[in-house]
This record gives sequence, structure tokens and C-alpha cells, in this order.
Amino acid sequence: MRLVDTHCHLNLPPFENDLDAVIQRARQAGVIQLIVPAIDLETCESAIQLARRYTGVFVAVGIHPNSTADFHPSQIEHLRMMATTEPKVVAIGEIGLDYHWKLSPHEKQAEAFRAQLALARELALPLIIHNREASADTVALLTEWQPSIPSSLHERVGVLHSFSASQEIADQVLRLGFHLGFTGPVTYKNADELRQIASCVPRNRLLIETDAPYLAPQPQRGKRNESAYVVAVAERLATLHQVSTEQMADVTTQNAQRLFGLGEETL
Ligand SMILES: [Zn+2]
Repeated sequence: MRLVDTHCHLNLPPFENDLDAVIQRARQAGVIQLIVPAIDLETCESAIQLARRYTGVFVAVGIHPNSTADFHPSQIEHLRMMATTEPKVVAIGEIGLDYHWKLSPHEKQAEAFRAQLALARELALPLIIHNREASADTVALLTEWQPSIPSSLHERVGVLHSFSASQEIADQVLRLGFHLGFTGPVTYKNADELRQIASCVPRNRLLIETDAPYLAPQPQRGKRNESAYVVAVAERLATLHQVSTEQMADVTTQNAQRLFGLGEETL
């Protein structure tokens, strides 16, 4: 099996003591490539360090909405510099809006989001979008941005990571050209609505992710998540789409490689 974990925070402290073993278990589970999204400038640096240390590890640079309270346009210069000088940067992320944690005012989040959308357009890089309880504003900002993108981005605008919104929002972002990323919650007992949405996503728009160390799938729910567990997400999506896990792995891997231009290099 060949899987891509398109969203894992292996540069965060929960992995600092056993990262080699985590990567090894991912490899044994069939994971061939990983994308590590940053959440602020510091984790951009640590993600890039990680990608230099391991083959098959790629990076998204960006400032997470929860880290935008002190956003300043000069941070865009740093992101641009990293994205243009580091070949393993494949996306701008994770960026977006988070109205759940209330760690940054809505206006500040929107300012940072807009500035990073403009950077992605300038550099023709796909987006990794975080949306928590902010669907209407997220869709509004993406709809405002989408008509201005270069043609090279049309087929690869990005992903709504760990999708958790409604069917209506799914339809709207699919129409804008986005992929939908699914994580551990698709395996949870009370997630019938999410499973219903996942079962309706066109197969060529599906991505699998862990969001490790968060959101471990059943039966590891509640423990530290890691990339090897992305298999459980592929299995669940396979059941929902009535294909083999092997087929689901293949199609989501092709989707990830096409969207992010991952090339041949593997873990
Ligand atoms: Zn994340």
C-alpha cells in the first residue's frame, strides 16, 4: 500500500523524543510521503529542518489563525523567503479562520488570511486551509480570492483540511475546486453526518490526513496520533466509497501528489 499523510505536525514537542521510530512505523504502514504544515514562523523553521533530515517529508509554510493575534505584514516577507528558497515547501498552510478558540480577533485573522492568500497566488502554491466554526467567512474569503488565481492553480487550489463543516459548505468549496481532507473523526462513533459527506465527495478530490498528534482515529482515539494511523482513515473512506483500501490508498496518493506536486522522493 502507498499512502500520503497530507497533514501531520511531526515537528511539535510530542514527537521530539521518538521521531525516528514514528517515521519508521509510518514507512512500515505504507506511508510514502508526509506533509508537515507550520502554524507560525518558528514551526516553519522546524518543519523545514525536519524535511531536510528525512526524504519524502514536505512542508507547508504559513501562520495558523490561532497564531495571528500579533500578525504583522513583515511576516509575509519571511514566508515568501522560505517558500522561494526551500524546495521542499509545497503549499501555504495551515492558514484560515478559527472562531472556536478565540485566540485572535476575527479582523486580525481575516487580515492574516487575506495576506497569505495573496502570497499563495503570487507564488502559485496550493493552500492548506484550517476552518473551525468559521465556515461562512472562510468560504467568503476563498470565493473573493479564487477568481484572481493564476491558471496553474486552477486544478490545484488546495485542501480544506480535517473537514468538519456541513454538506452545503462541502458543495461550495468543491465548486471552488478544493479537495477535502479527512482525519480520525471520520472513524468516530457519532460521526454519521461527516461520513455521509465523505461518501459524496468525488474520489479525485479526497485526501487522507492524521493531523498528528491530534485526532487519533479509532481504536487509538484519545492517544497521541501518528502518521502510521492514517491507514485507519483510508480504510474508513474505502468502505464509504465501496472500494478496496488499496484502491482508496492509490487514489488519495495520486490526488496528494498531483495537488502538491510531490514528485518521486519517498520516506
Ligand atoms: Zn493541523
